[in-house]
Amino acid sequence: MLLLLGACAPSGGEQPSPPPRLVLFLVDTLRADRLTPYGHDRPTSPNLERLVARGAVFDQAWSPAPWTLPATASLLTGVDPDRHGAGLHGSWRDLASQVPDGLAADVPTLAERLGDEGWRCEAFVTNPFVGFGLERGFESFTLRQTEAAEVLDWTLERLDVPGDERPTFLLAHLIDCHDPLLIPDEFVLDARPPGDRLPVPDISNRTFSTLAMTPEHRAARLRLYDGAVRYVDAQLGRLLDSLEADGSIDDTYLVFTSDHGEEVFESAALARGAGYVQPETVRPLGHGHTLFEEVLRVPLVIAGPGVEARGLHVPGAVATHDLVPTLLELLGVDHDPAELDARSLVGTLRGEHADARAVVSRGIAFGRDRSALLRDGWSLVRGGEGEATVLLRVGDPEHLDRSAEEPDRLLELGADLDALNSLAQSRRGSATQIDPAQRARLRALGYLDRDQE
Ligand SMILES: [Zn+2]
Repeated sequence: MLLLLGACAPSGGEQPSPPPRLVLFLVDTLRADRLTPYGHDRPTSPNLERLVARGAVFDQAWSPAPWTLPATASLLTGVDPDRHGAGLHGSWRDLASQVPDGLAADVPTLAERLGDEGWRCEAFVTNPFVGFGLERGFESFTLRQTEAAEVLDWTLERLDVPGDERPTFLLAHLIDCHDPLLIPDEFVLDARPPGDRLPVPDISNRTFSTLAMTPEHRAARLRLYDGAVRYVDAQLGRLLDSLEADGSIDDTYLVFTSDHGEEVFESAALARGAGYVQPETVRPLGHGHTLFEEVLRVPLVIAGPGVEARGLHVPGAVATHDLVPTLLELLGVDHDPAELDARSLVGTLRGEHADARAVVSRGIAFGRDRSALLRDGWSLVRGGEGEATVLLRVGDPEHLDRSAEEPDRLLELGADLDALNSLAQSRRGSATQIDPAQRARLRALGYLDRDQE
């Protein structure tokens, strides 16, 4: 027995392995397609490339909601917006005039789960909608609407606390890609061509009309957005530099993701065609108002011990809140999978198989109650009362409704969404029955593998 114990203890002179450490680098309002690992042709993200070389990049990561509170609540709990409850409810939603509901009391956060295992969990967040219960489990939770450099100063300071040997989870939340894009000039790429006097529209004032967004305005807006991406990427670089300098980068779990994307007038015509009506002040710009690709598709890169799939691009659709069961499995924290609406991606990270699933998004902030299903490179967006359902091809530069040319696919994805809605309702204890055809459909979609047959 003594020999066995001796064999497990560190031998003389060797360092015991350090306690686990996790940094969640969460960039508010970051659409995937402005990042080079996601195909952008401008050099916005050299430091994210460094991280990708160390981990897996999920090419089709979708948010389960299009605005901060419900999306971040899912990201930090692993459950769908209709289960965690954080967000706006009712058939007509208007964030400007309604107070959102907070996180359901019986849904634990990742920080609570890790805290129960003895972790030191701390957060620095820059958007007041990262709250409403999301602070639960963090022993320190700083909310300050400030720039990314300050968040990274804090992150680097809190990576190690002298005398504190507990495992560490840091949430670093950055707001710089959100309106009004107040970034240092040095990060704006090719700021303006010589002689270009085009004013950058004041996006913080949403009163300009749809017609005011000329192609030149849109390009200027995206130039500024790319600059914001460069700025947050430079802060990621500071974190990577620090971890490389002290030799701890291989022992640190690093996750880079976002709560939702951002529209810059991509889908104005689509929304009009589908009969969407928005509150007076909402334009086809920003987020929270639709469930289209530019608002839902975000980056997801995961690196750390046990991640073998370094530099691997994972093509299948996953949801951002798959992160919670993934991290729990990587970190060896037990949980009941039935408590979550997400799936672990550890098999993918270990290079064993490719995870892909159908993703449902809902929980808008402005307008009717809509829902979207994302699967196999297509998205079906079902409108609320008086609004049309549209079928979209992922990555379609024309942003056109393909319903008329793909009638079979329209029916198929509609039936998928019905089945997933029935599953969600039955899990929440309603009397909804899932019929045998829906069961077969759900199994084919990657659901029901752990649910009671
Ligand atoms: Zn947000």
